[in-house]
Amino acid sequence: MNHTRSRWMIGLLLALALVATACGGGSGDTTQGTDTTQGTDTTQGGGDSEETIEHPAGSTMAEIQQRGTITVGTKFDQPLFGLKRATTGEVEGFDVEIAELIAEAIDPDLEIEFVETPSAVREDVLVNGDVDMVVATYTINDKRKERVGFAGPYYVAGQDIMVPAGNPEDIQGVDDLNGKRVCSVQGSTSIENVREEAPDADVTEFGTYSQCADAMSDGRVDAVSTDNVILLGLIEESDGEFELVGNPFTTEPYGIGVPKDDDELRNFINDRLEEIYDNGEWAEAYERTVGVVDEETPEPPEVDRY
Ligand code: GLU
Repeated sequence: MNHTRSRWMIGLLLALALVATACGGGSGDTTQGTDTTQGTDTTQGGGDSEETIEHPAGSTMAEIQQRGTITVGTKFDQPLFGLKRATTGEVEGFDVEIAELIAEAIDPDLEIEFVETPSAVREDVLVNGDVDMVVATYTINDKRKERVGFAGPYYVAGQDIMVPAGNPEDIQGVDDLNGKRVCSVQGSTSIENVREEAPDADVTEFGTYSQCADAMSDGRVDAVSTDNVILLGLIEESDGEFELVGNPFTTEPYGIGVPKDDDELRNFINDRLEEIYDNGEWAEAYERTVGVVDEETPEPPEVDRY
């Protein structure tokens, strides 16, 4: 084949590939996309739709659609991300909204059952099949990938430190935690990072970050360390009692936990994330939730299809 001809062939193949991509892109599913209606319980979601979304036979999405309910593990005590309001019984926050946006792409009429899932049990609930997915300020890392799969990331946080207002112990960064009483949570990357970066810290370990906030309120600890956005939520609720040091020392990409080998579900969620990045729904959800403390909506992170 001469050069002119082979170049022409390559051009033709590229053009065909582009047409194929344009026709077959994404999950191929259209969704209602705008319904964030919440119920009155922890069972939420569900809109009215005219069209039925078709999923591959035998897929987890088809199975969930058939069941009519999706079960989602999230936090119940983290303002901005996953907070259950005692007054209404409703769960709210960015993680909750991300879960709703995924659920409505499986089926707009799906009921969502939110299950409280503290940091330490996130892998277990997926391995045991207690939930369909976990959306819970859940950092993607290789150790966790040994037991579960991750779609995303859909947000990138950084670990920081919260102190009493006025910063009485003058804590400016992670090194200053050495010799101080520091609270973090079992099964979190945060507690591991504190132990590694400040080996002489006197670490108190609780099941949830709200327990750490209570401990600092009572003077039982000098500082709380976890992701900046979790701390900002606690600060927002503290009415001036706490403040952020503002010196992040890690990168925490938040993923959506799914059962380990369910690549079909993982890909479906990744497609949906890209869809809500593009159509603005991710940004709207961010502005309604984390946006309360962060005026500048970030660019969504790039999905990692490992
Ligand atoms: N993002 C960190 C983690 O997944 C800390 C926050 C949390 O415990 O939920 O461990």
